[in-house]
Amino acid sequence: TAANKTKLTIGLIPADGIGKEVTPAAVAILESLKGPLQFDFINLDAGFEHFQKTGKALPEKTVETLENACDGALFGAVSSPSHRVEGYSSPIVGMRKRLDLYANVRPAISVPSAQNANQTPVDMLIIRENTECLYIKQEKIETDPASSLKVAYATRKISEHASRRCGKVAFESALKRDRLRQSVPLNQRVWKGKPKVTIVHKSNVLSITDGLWRETVRAVANDEKYKNVDVNEQLVDSMVYRMYLEPQAFDVVVAPNMYGDIISDGAAALVGSLGLVPSANVGDKFVLTEPVHGSAPDIAGQNKANPIAAIRSAGLLLEHLGYPDEALSIYNAVDAVIKEGSVLTPDVGGRATTDQVTKAIMDKL
Ligand code: ATP
Ligand code: MG
Repeated sequence: TAANKTKLTIGLIPADGIGKEVTPAAVAILESLKGPLQFDFINLDAGFEHFQKTGKALPEKTVETLENACDGALFGAVSSPSHRVEGYSSPIVGMRKRLDLYANVRPAISVPSAQNANQTPVDMLIIRENTECLYIKQEKIETDPASSLKVAYATRKISEHASRRCGKVAFESALKRDRLRQSVPLNQRVWKGKPKVTIVHKSNVLSITDGLWRETVRAVANDEKYKNVDVNEQLVDSMVYRMYLEPQAFDVVVAPNMYGDIISDGAAALVGSLGLVPSANVGDKFVLTEPVHGSAPDIAGQNKANPIAAIRSAGLLLEHLGYPDEALSIYNAVDAVIKEGSVLTPDVGGRATTDQVTKAIMDKL
């Protein structure tokens, strides 16, 4: 691992839209960290805009540089055209595949402030399977000869291998969160109980695919290492319902790709904005972090994107590379700015610019 280095090489892939505004904000924060840790940054191309210019959404050079020269990477955001564009496929999906980044780790944490005084506190971690489910994109369309009407099909893949390794990330994360929580006074914790993993599925309807997912993740729980972790299950529809009414009922939540995508956008709404939530794409050999939000074309280029999701993503990157103290100082600086509430972007009720929020967080470091 990178954990004993004093200089880290980080690949930067700002990509599209507000990705180009929030990635530099994350870099500025990393550069202003106190302490001996230094960074080399390598700028790398990818994205829809790059595809329009060059015909390539994910240049080979980007993947090779990540594999051979980088300790980890910060990704910005990618535009997904709403209809099929010939020859284009999402570079983030490509990178997940090429680097085998099989789990997507998405913390949703609310920070109490004057702006959100009546918001229910949230501190949950969603683990989204990152390689299969409906995202294998095996679709086909036919015409029904009898009616001449079209019929479309999508194949959903669930494997024991992918489900197991994703399950392990969930249980390991539950133990890690429990260790970190010990330093927080009990009355300040959102989650006060034993570590818990909630398995999301819909095996009452999809008994074969979701059945395999559920059984495989449950089997991970039998490992002696996880004997102190509680396990429960939630059907995906009731997961959404309960998450809105009682988000504090969840610690770690693990879900197949599609359900994970949907519930993590829902969790972002619960904590106040897509502009606040980071994510990490993790594999056995590499980690690439990115904000959960997309390229937000509606606000791109206006210096009003919330940089906090990208800045927290830089924290997650350090956490996963083995630098928890540096990560914590980033999280604390962000929390302090949210708590004060005077320098925030419009999505969370403020009037400040991307640059002003970045500067305010920098000052807290
Ligand atoms: P994409 O196709 O890239 O996903 P999108 O239109 O789905 O683009 P998202 O980025 O997912 O856009 O954003 C959804 C909404 O949330 C938009 O209205 C956007 O302005 C807002 N939003 C997303 N990220 C941020 C941010 N960092 N700061 C402020 N608002 C944001
Ligand atoms: Mg989107």
